[in-house]
Amino acid sequence: DGPAELTSVDALPLRPELRGKTPYGAPQLKVAHRLNTNENPYPLPPELLADLATALAEASVELNRYPDRDAVALRTDLAAYLTRTAGDRVGPEQVWAANGSNEVLQQLLQAFGGAGRTALGFTPSYSMHPIIAAGTGTAWIDGHRRADFTIDADAAVAQVRELRPDVVFVTSPNNPTGTAVEPATVEALYAATQGMVVVDEAYAEFARLGTPSALALLPDRPRLVVSRTMSKAFGMAGLRLGYLAADPAVVDALQLVRLPYHLSALTQAAARAALAHTDALLATVDAVKAERDRIVAELPRLGLTSVPSDANFVLFGRFADARAAWQALLDHDVLVRDVGIPGWLRVTAGTPAETEAFLTALGEVAPAHR
Ligand code: PMP
Repeated sequence: DGPAELTSVDALPLRPELRGKTPYGAPQLKVAHRLNTNENPYPLPPELLADLATALAEASVELNRYPDRDAVALRTDLAAYLTRTAGDRVGPEQVWAANGSNEVLQQLLQAFGGAGRTALGFTPSYSMHPIIAAGTGTAWIDGHRRADFTIDADAAVAQVRELRPDVVFVTSPNNPTGTAVEPATVEALYAATQGMVVVDEAYAEFARLGTPSALALLPDRPRLVVSRTMSKAFGMAGLRLGYLAADPAVVDALQLVRLPYHLSALTQAAARAALAHTDALLATVDAVKAERDRIVAELPRLGLTSVPSDANFVLFGRFADARAAWQALLDHDVLVRDVGIPGWLRVTAGTPAETEAFLTALGEVAPAHR
């Protein structure tokens, strides 16, 4: 007998809106310098590693039981962190957590999007927003950005008034461009819609001085949501812990769609252990920001430019053929991200050694690809 014939996805009775789609696919390649998924490259502090081992061992004793379904202790710790950074008090009843902010966003669309409903986001932005929309049966609408990737607040408000989406996504700082969005724009969008406004602040901790979070807008705006993650600044991408702050009614709504016990006891214990080391974890943020700014400063010397960034990555270009430049950098053992914007590539800012490797490779690649 020969090998069994492989079944293609198209041969399955797949939902029509998923046909022909490609999965989220940042390549996970073995490369010396992985600068393609906006992780924090610094190792976790040794004191945290020791505490993690203890916390996981303690939580393991009760693994025969389901975890706290509402993750109250963890949400209390997350609320304390947000209160510390935001100034205004954020209470545990305003915080919700899930397996990465991707799951938080999915639960938001399960609750507020879905069949017959629409979500609008200002593209180019985080590629998972439309993918999660498709997965939840929510129709997607591309919002406009200017050529410099900023959002024109008046045009955005006009588009939202006209198309009346049920959910508006604002990514600030935006991935993949690094562009921060003014709270005044969020305020204007909120006033222009009866729907939910979700501000995806996955990269908030990397913002430059004076770039405010939308957290300050939460009071008296029950349809506003600010989503955060421990994957980036906290350097805990492997943990899978995302969270949001919003009106307590939003948290009530998400409990209607979340799977029971969605956050494992081990995840909750590890996240709490990590939050007890917040200062040590966030100590690397300034170093990463310095590398980001160094990349931005060095690009003109190579005949390249960048988009002003408030995140831990830089959108740089312009290239005649971004895909060819991406491959040439990969041939120099540097993996960056081709985000599909003609002429541009995205690089994650990490350690000084990574910046060195990136700039050296780019110095060799740039002349032939500008
Ligand atoms: N939002 C944005 C803007 C992101 O860039 C990412 C990660 N690339 C996420 C959300 C999801 O991150 P996580 O699920 O790891 O929290």
